[in-house]
Amino acid sequence: MTPAAVIDGKAFAEGVRAGVVRAVTELKDDYGITPGLAVVLVGDDPASAVYVRNKGEQANAAGMHSVTHRLPAHTSQADLLDLVRQLNADASIHGILVQMPLPKGLDADAVIAAIDPAKDVDGLHPLSAGRLSAGLPGLVPCTPVGCMMLLKDRLGDLSGMHAVMVGRSNLMGKPMAQLLLAANCTVTIAHSRTRDLPAVCRVADILVVAVGQAEMVKADWVKPGATVLDVGMNRVSSRDPDKAAAGKTRLVGDVDFAAVSAVAAQITPVPGGIGPMTIACLLRNAVLACAEARGIRLAALA
Ligand code: NDP
Repeated sequence: MTPAAVIDGKAFAEGVRAGVVRAVTELKDDYGITPGLAVVLVGDDPASAVYVRNKGEQANAAGMHSVTHRLPAHTSQADLLDLVRQLNADASIHGILVQMPLPKGLDADAVIAAIDPAKDVDGLHPLSAGRLSAGLPGLVPCTPVGCMMLLKDRLGDLSGMHAVMVGRSNLMGKPMAQLLLAANCTVTIAHSRTRDLPAVCRVADILVVAVGQAEMVKADWVKPGATVLDVGMNRVSSRDPDKAAAGKTRLVGDVDFAAVSAVAAQITPVPGGIGPMTIACLLRNAVLACAEARGIRLAALA
């Protein structure tokens, strides 16, 4: 069998970012508005710090007004909620993202619920989740939006395809399943209590995996010709024993890429697959939130 075509998320994300830049220019030139994104980081988790820096840099590069609030790990719930309320009231900010996970002792659900749903660019507010499941327009979590863009680009009409979503988080699994359903797929949601997960995965025309288990999905879990999206990002020891001994790591997905490539028709790599789409779609959400707040229909993102 011919090896799977590798879906280049990095190249696709560049196209999405170019659309964002055009939309930012349209908002500035035609309406005199600069879309603003605020990112809040609490604590010093190194991976979160990298994501937050990248988000800020890419927002700036797209011509947006970008603000990053870095708070110490011992920040109180009341102070964090105060900041969220200030950002809700700040007319220069159209999108608010509080980087998860929060340090122990902080109530993430309460923080998410405090974000103005109109500025909920992570799509995690219960109102955003409810609108998505009711089929109403609203802000949708960035990673599932990016996954759907890639699927529609590669497969066109998804109607009638059997999609299996492995993982059921509010950030990824559940919204992805809703988007697949809205695209007329027959959707199965699998999780850690699913019986015979390999057999469930094997029925998938579209297999989306977001579990956080390094290279869990093997070749015999995948139907020949399936399209596989690997959302997982896991750090494992370097293959080189000397580098591994020195603590060097490498990034792998939830799918055994080399083995599954021999069976699938199309597959996203890690890195360079879903990851780059996430920030591009975050910027897009911020621009959409800005336009929606002013009742503007953007030609650049139509
Ligand atoms: P969560 O930990 O919130 O959810 C993981 C899900 O996977 C849960 O529903 C869990 O089931 C399920 N799961 C865990 N272990 C297994 C297993 N052995 N078999 C079947 N299901 C299992 O993670 P997220 O959804 O936030 O993220 C998942 C992965 O995606 C992570 O690696 C994360 O880093 C990555 N990610 C990458 C992004 C990107 O931009 N590329 C963005 C977001 C996430 P249960 O509910 O039963 O516990």
